[in-house]
Amino acid sequence: MTAPQTRPVRTRFAPSPTGFLHLGGARTALFSWAYARHFNGCFVLRIEDTDVARSTPEAVQAILDAMQWLELQADEGPFYQMQRMGRYREVIGQMLDQGTAYHCWSTPAEVEAMRTRARALGTKPRYDGTWRPEPGKTLPPIPAGVQPVVRFRSPLEGVTAWDDLVKGPIRFDNAELDDLVIARADGTPTYNFCVVVDDWDMEITHVIRGDDHVNNTPRQINILRALGAELPIYGHVPMILGPDGEKLSKRHGAVSVMEYERMGYLPEAMVNYLARLGWSHGDDELFTREQFVAWFDPRNLSRSPAQWDPRKLNWVNAHTLRTLRPEDLARQVAPRIERLGGTCGQVDLPAIMALLCDRAETLEDLAQAALLFCEIEPPVDSALRSEVLDAQALERLEAFREQASALPEWTSAALDALIKACLKQWGIKMPQLAIPLRVAITGRRQTPAIGAVLALLGRDTVLQRLSAQRDQNGRR
Ligand code: GLU
Repeated sequence: MTAPQTRPVRTRFAPSPTGFLHLGGARTALFSWAYARHFNGCFVLRIEDTDVARSTPEAVQAILDAMQWLELQADEGPFYQMQRMGRYREVIGQMLDQGTAYHCWSTPAEVEAMRTRARALGTKPRYDGTWRPEPGKTLPPIPAGVQPVVRFRSPLEGVTAWDDLVKGPIRFDNAELDDLVIARADGTPTYNFCVVVDDWDMEITHVIRGDDHVNNTPRQINILRALGAELPIYGHVPMILGPDGEKLSKRHGAVSVMEYERMGYLPEAMVNYLARLGWSHGDDELFTREQFVAWFDPRNLSRSPAQWDPRKLNWVNAHTLRTLRPEDLARQVAPRIERLGGTCGQVDLPAIMALLCDRAETLEDLAQAALLFCEIEPPVDSALRSEVLDAQALERLEAFREQASALPEWTSAALDALIKACLKQWGIKMPQLAIPLRVAITGRRQTPAIGAVLALLGRDTVLQRLSAQRDQNGRR
């Protein structure tokens, strides 16, 4: 596919820093980023922080952290709208000079009264154009003591239409659109206006964003036209629904991207999974970031809402875990083990990762499972001990300890062979030895294969724990 226009591709992600980066935002960022990467274009990050009451520096940081974690590197920015106020004022001045915008002295109470009247007449509540200059029209006298707002002189007739990258042709009757306030009475520019000036100045060619912005688009297009700006191509991505078909929210679990980092998901898996939410490449479910960029074609963005499926995310994450080398897993899991109270200094963590990796879905699962090898003392469950470690079991453990201490080498294979020999000698089945061994040495009834566990725990630890068990029993 070729880029459908001649300007070099420039996309942007333009979050409002009013909270963490949520999954929907991250997916929008991902699509914009992939579009730019696919066409060797430029990906711009713009922080829309003009809502000063709701924007916080913490939220800005949370967005930057999440973008960094997902490795969605911006080529330009972050730009902050609050630092561009001078520019917005300049453009407002130009529009007033050119007559594409005008001052309006109607007070908020008057505008509200216009709306009420319109509602009573059964028409759309809107500003009635009192201060809109028209040829031959006499404007009312300017009231004293009222600061005017600036309104955009929106076309009264005709249609504003665009061919949406995702949704196809969309059209709005201009008669539906109000003369939008572009600067408030205190001079601050409004949301839709700042977006327009930025998209224009930043030479954005493709605006990919959530479909909650569809209603803003005709307004933005009309202002861009009034400015004589080249229009970007718009693509509005449907929202993400929860597994129950409702809008994705906290009820469905974590909605903050960084929460997934804490839970032990890998950024590569997150990118893979988010990409598939509303975009497809044939039946491919598992792919790398590079494949995603190479395959990305906005025509394959879905028109219908995608559904969040935590089980599928787990599946993708589990797959991605298994593509990592044990050394890389060890590096990523070690801090999680320490956070759980384990210590990694004495153990062969890559070997432990290789053993555990097949059963884990997340890095946190791996850390939990690896704790078995990384704790100074195993947990004590007295009920479990008295259930499993009866006199006969203890006798066998002691016999096992003696034979194990004589093993010339401490490997999984040697330990398996010894266990097999003991089973044969005593005429018992695997669980009759393996469970007492697990409980005595690890404090748990279940572990991965016992030979491998004993090998990784190391000769000293195993023998010392079995001796302690014997001594404790002697005292009983
Ligand atoms: N700041 C807007 C938001 O966070 C996005 C604006 C846009 O993409 O045009 O929803």
